[in-house]
Amino acid sequence: KLTHFGYQKVNEEEKSGKVADVFNHVAQHYDLMNDLMSGGMHRLWKAFAVSQAGVKEGFRVLDIAGGTGDLTWSFSKQVGDTGEVWLTDINETMLQCGRDKLLNRGVLVPTLVCDAEKLPFPDNYFDRVIVSFGLRNMTHKEQALSEMNRVLKPGGKLLVLEFSKVWKPLQNLYDIYSFSVLPWLGKHVAKSADSYRYLAESIRVHPDQATLQKMMEDAGFVCARFFNLTAGVVALHTGMKL
Ligand code: SAM
Repeated sequence: KLTHFGYQKVNEEEKSGKVADVFNHVAQHYDLMNDLMSGGMHRLWKAFAVSQAGVKEGFRVLDIAGGTGDLTWSFSKQVGDTGEVWLTDINETMLQCGRDKLLNRGVLVPTLVCDAEKLPFPDNYFDRVIVSFGLRNMTHKEQALSEMNRVLKPGGKLLVLEFSKVWKPLQNLYDIYSFSVLPWLGKHVAKSADSYRYLAESIRVHPDQATLQKMMEDAGFVCARFFNLTAGVVALHTGMKL
């Protein structure tokens, strides 16, 4: 099966290798680039996701593809001493940046290098699972969603925050931004234009809102719904495990 990667067609094994390359390259500049690329909007998108998660004291929360730990940080304040938040990612460099950032803020959470497609957690363990700007990098998204379902408790909730399909009248403008401004910023700030070309391309081939909702239902989630944020530049999908 072939999949797009940075204007080329590559196979699945190559895709995971290239995703690892991208995040090894960008890890040190990741937070700064997020602010520059989104004009700070990523903070609002993440805050909205946190508000929809409904995390309470004592909850067990899993942050998948958690990278530099923004969501883990927010949830760590909500779960209190009796809860747990796990910061996980397939990329050790990203995870180290996240763990260091949290430690600098005085927060110690369990961190684990793991692939979302093979989660090393027991069935029915977490109250909430969240993946923010991570799903589109996964090679077998159905497998990852099914793993997220497995580790959630019955009654638990999955939240998927991800780039999505922008409102049609804005598409041309958005394409110019994605394929010109992003690589330019990538080249001058993160010293890696290719990594940010990958970002634009990975967004272009990611399932649209309705398709992802259907994928979540197929993975066993009920009450699957989505919220468009900033004209569909980003969407928050949510679903419950029965
Ligand atoms: N969640 C963070 C945020 O919202 O800022 C980081 C998102 S970053 C754009 C995407 C992350 O997905 C990277 O840290 C990457 O290593 C991770 N990732 C990619 N494929 C993965 C997989 N199969 N399993 C777990 N993490 C993965």
